[in-house]
Amino acid sequence: MTAVLWCDNEAAVNRFNELKGDRHYSIASVNQADSDVLHELRWWKKQLPIELHAKWVKSHQEQCDTRESRLNRIADRLAALQHSATGEWVTKSKSAMLPHTRAQLHLPDGRHTGRVHTGVQYKLWGQNARTYIGRKLHLEEAWNLVDWDSLSRHHKSLSWQRRATRLKLIFRWAPTNARQCLVGQSDTPLCPLCGVEQETLDHVMGCDSPSATAAKREALAEFDQALDDIGTHPDIATLLCLAVDSGRRPLCDAESDRDLSGIMVAQDTIGWGIVRYGFIAKEWTAAQTHWAESRDPNHSPKKTLRWAKQVQEHMWSFVTAIWDHRNKEVHGKEKQEAAQKIVHALRAEQKSKNKKLSSSDGTQHSTYSQSTSQFPRSCS
Ligand SMILES: [Zn+2]
Repeated sequence: MTAVLWCDNEAAVNRFNELKGDRHYSIASVNQADSDVLHELRWWKKQLPIELHAKWVKSHQEQCDTRESRLNRIADRLAALQHSATGEWVTKSKSAMLPHTRAQLHLPDGRHTGRVHTGVQYKLWGQNARTYIGRKLHLEEAWNLVDWDSLSRHHKSLSWQRRATRLKLIFRWAPTNARQCLVGQSDTPLCPLCGVEQETLDHVMGCDSPSATAAKREALAEFDQALDDIGTHPDIATLLCLAVDSGRRPLCDAESDRDLSGIMVAQDTIGWGIVRYGFIAKEWTAAQTHWAESRDPNHSPKKTLRWAKQVQEHMWSFVTAIWDHRNKEVHGKEKQEAAQKIVHALRAEQKSKNKKLSSSDGTQHSTYSQSTSQFPRSCS
């Protein structure tokens, strides 16, 4: 048995008929117009025991001479009745939508009201994102040990641009030469600063070229000072500095301090290479609180929360100081210098293309050499 669903939104009809099974939408489709309507329809399609097929009916027809057009007119009239209607949604979710905008969404775990697009993305992709992070950073076993609270509070405080940079660094998508070479965007995988090793992200963080070493030393001194300024337990500060600097497990006399041994055990499970990206164990904050309380009986939990977020900020500053230094060295310190480097790269690329052309057809391309001579002297 098949039922036909008539709708005057042609795009929605087409999309509806494409829907199959439980396949999730892509983020792009969630962001498109009428995605809330489609999700609603999809939910109903799944609930019904019969086949459901959508067909388009022209809206606002003058002459309603077919059954569908007459039904459409009735539906329009019913919809118009609701335009000014107000009422309470059944859901308890707080609406954060624009005034006069109302939508409610069915998902397997219930109905949602509010910022539908963000909500849908979170509901549909939250678990996928979690699985991805777990696999990529080997956190499946250590998931509950990570201090997600301070990590996400800091992450949300960053601009969109900085968040993007942060994710690129965490997930190894940053355009280092090793990665760019892999995808055919760079001729060499070698580090542009030292020219010795492949430029992976780990290498960027530990490159021993003179300028990179100096930049790192400076960033580390600032990190150390910042930890001191926010009243960090001296041993915690030392451990954090060593971990952030080397990306490896620091040597620690944990036997002497129960709090420190808790940190070491938890962070061993999470991993030390990702400490600098903010993936630290909750034990760091617990140990800091324990220490702060022993010095000040009135120490408030709020202070600890602030401390944890500040540690995240300072670790991020350390990472970006090194990454920004690398980018300035590669792309030029000033805008003009950066522009000149791009011109150089383009000219070199064009020259090699030109050479290939000349050798393949045996002719000289005088047009190109004329145009290059017009470049200002300073660029060559
Ligand atoms: Zn290097």
